[in-house]
Amino acid sequence: MNYNNFFKDALGGLKAEGRYRVFANLERIVGEFPRAWLHTGNGEEPRKITVWCSNDYLGMGQHPKVLDAMQAEITGQGGGAGGTRNISGSNHVHVALEEELASLHGKEAALLMTSGYVANWTTLSTLGSKLPDCVIISDAFNHNSMIEGMRHSKAERRIWKHNDLEHLEQILADLGPNRAKIVAFESVYSMDGDIAPIGKILDLCEKYNALSYLDEVHAVGMYGPHGGGVAERDGVMDRVDIVQGTLAKAFGVIGGYIAGKSEIVDFVRSFGNGFIFTSSHPPSIAAGALASIRHLKESNVEREAQKERAETLRQRMRDAGLPVMDAPSHIVPLMVGDAAMCKEASDRLLYDHDIYVQPINYPTVPRGTERLRFTPGPLHNDELIDHLINSLLTVWSQLGIQKAA
Ligand code: PMP
Repeated sequence: MNYNNFFKDALGGLKAEGRYRVFANLERIVGEFPRAWLHTGNGEEPRKITVWCSNDYLGMGQHPKVLDAMQAEITGQGGGAGGTRNISGSNHVHVALEEELASLHGKEAALLMTSGYVANWTTLSTLGSKLPDCVIISDAFNHNSMIEGMRHSKAERRIWKHNDLEHLEQILADLGPNRAKIVAFESVYSMDGDIAPIGKILDLCEKYNALSYLDEVHAVGMYGPHGGGVAERDGVMDRVDIVQGTLAKAFGVIGGYIAGKSEIVDFVRSFGNGFIFTSSHPPSIAAGALASIRHLKESNVEREAQKERAETLRQRMRDAGLPVMDAPSHIVPLMVGDAAMCKEASDRLLYDHDIYVQPINYPTVPRGTERLRFTPGPLHNDELIDHLINSLLTVWSQLGIQKAA
């Protein structure tokens, strides 16, 4: 085996397809969100750019309340938590955060994990492997963290056509009421920006005696009067068995969790290896997340401003004849339809116009639907939107990319 050739060839294949990932080396600037320094290397001075694709959707990662809470814990408790939750790493801030998360979702209990990825992976792999003869019914567009968790569980998996209630019902009816079943889905699908009909999916889960597992990663903090997600907005939160979320997007910090009935949460706490065998978050991280959740529970200002900005951007793109995809959420995807073109458009926006938007290519989205995905926040002002639209029109005409019909 020639190991070097193997690795070089595999990477070369990605490069030839235009799918090799190059990360923008950013330095965020407190007080200037969504502006950041871009470090280009080669001994050049960093350049100030505007970030248009951050998942810190509301800018909470720089909110003074969040920063103060983090700094207070660093001063008071120091760096790390000192261990796994089981061995010396359970901190009173973790406990307070779990209580806050349970209350946010109207559930009996919550469990904090390393990230949203780990929360999905651990929960689905644990439930899928431990529930006897379990089948997991998974929406076709589910995130990789759910897919890998289900695979690892070795439970039977049925894929249901994206957001297709008839197909979901067929599968559930086929399996019958006695088999253990988990229906796993998301609320906001982050690449198309579409939203699941949660209430109708829950009707089917109840009719066929299936556990419902809802990933609200792109919705917590963003929807519902207290930021409890789309299930809160739709008034169906109490009917979801397991809600999963992240602290790294609208809440602006890092971490993931599940919330649900205390026996289910205790089960994952007791049997979930991805929870048990890893060190817990530094107290400062948990304190930042706690401050962010508490703020967004009370304040609608950021959510409302974000909604207005997303609608304004969508309308400006439509008016300019740019092929913006219709989406009922905070996400604004702009279709390009070709991997190499998508990368080139992103590069030109960055290097010629100081606009950073990462190309979204296969396998994140199907081939032929490559796109730029904009996530406008409350602080993308009119001037930044004007500059973005003018720059997009320039790049679109330089590259001859299809405009809207
Ligand atoms: N679920 C979905 C739908 C996601 O898009 C992501 C990450 N982008 C995750 C889970 C993982 O969350 P985290 O980034 O907190 O690991």
